[in-house]
Amino acid sequence: MSNPLSDLWRLENTDFQDSDSLQSILRSILLSVPDAMIVIDDAGIIMAFSRAAEALFGYKSEDVVGTNIKCLMTQSDQAHHDQYIRNYLTTGERQIIGIGRIVEARLANGDSIPVELKIGEANIGDRKLFTGFIRDITEKQANVHRIGELQAELGNFSRLSAVGTMASAMAHELNQPLTAVANYLEAARDLLDEPSENDLAMVQEAVSAAAEQSIRAGQIVRRLRDYVSRGELDLRPAPLKGVIDDAAAIAKVGIEGPLARVILRMEDPDVIVMADRLQLRQVFANLIRNAIEALSGTETPQIWIYTQSSGEEVTIEVKDNGPGLSEELLHSPFDAFQTTKASGMGLGLSICQTIIEAHGSTIAVSSEPGAGASFTFTLRVATNVAG
Ligand code: ADP
Repeated sequence: MSNPLSDLWRLENTDFQDSDSLQSILRSILLSVPDAMIVIDDAGIIMAFSRAAEALFGYKSEDVVGTNIKCLMTQSDQAHHDQYIRNYLTTGERQIIGIGRIVEARLANGDSIPVELKIGEANIGDRKLFTGFIRDITEKQANVHRIGELQAELGNFSRLSAVGTMASAMAHELNQPLTAVANYLEAARDLLDEPSENDLAMVQEAVSAAAEQSIRAGQIVRRLRDYVSRGELDLRPAPLKGVIDDAAAIAKVGIEGPLARVILRMEDPDVIVMADRLQLRQVFANLIRNAIEALSGTETPQIWIYTQSSGEEVTIEVKDNGPGLSEELLHSPFDAFQTTKASGMGLGLSICQTIIEAHGSTIAVSSEPGAGASFTFTLRVATNVAG
């Protein structure tokens, strides 16, 4: 029986008539071609499998030659491959031949990896052969993904560092409405010393002008808060445990002295939530960092993170055994610019609130002097993400 591969060589190199030398040339190509190379016939049966293909897929050539190429594909491609070949043979319409495509390859160990596939074809008599060149692009894709992540982080970081500049501009801007509020109220107080009918109307005017100015001050603060916590949300399924682990690592950066123990207790460690991963990470990083700082004087500093799933929601609690929130803070803990720290900006909790509210939830705090603080919020569990 004639071997189509040697036929191919006979056609290409009319000088070579000796079938043995053709076979050995072919073998040396299969051994040395740097990319994984697979030749199949028009029924999808593997005819040649290069050394690099053996290394990539983890199969020996003799294990797969003679079997259908589908054993190297993931289930979704397997189902359609015979049809692809049939379509091409009848219509001649090229979907992948000569074009190349990124597909998933299935390895001998059951793993699947992204590969770049290029296919060429050869006509041997009235038969067609297809040669596939396959390149593993796992690393390339991981790099692209990582670069994307770093860019997003960098964007967030530069936004945060711009906050310093912005805060002083804001302080200046805030000064105006606050001075106006003080002036209006002082005027009202003076008018109330010995009020006449006329004065009362003016007092009313001054008080409503003061109220207007204080609303303006509130708007300025809100603008800063929205700016810091990035405007738009990128909601996607995100593994909660991964987000918490990353945030805990970030929160510990640059802390000197003994660190609080972070104890993670998840009812379902594999739970996937719908969240903007970077923003959610920022929430956990802020809460953990605050707890670490609050625990600096505590003897056995501990931070617990509990998660509990119930139906479509997961409830999260970040709790510590520190001194708890100060009394003034407990009135409105999530308002901006409240801090007890020498170098604090008082924006962390306010940013947490903005982000959690943007996720359609609310954040609450409970605190007991000397017994620690506890922050709770819920997130939506992502459904239908399997597969
Ligand atoms: P900052 O950390 O810049 O002060 P935050 O808005 O993150 O801004 O926190 C505001 C204040 O809330 C902190 O200064 C601190 O007094 C208090 N606080 C936050 N978390 C805790 C906690 N876990 N325990 C005690 N106090 C806390």
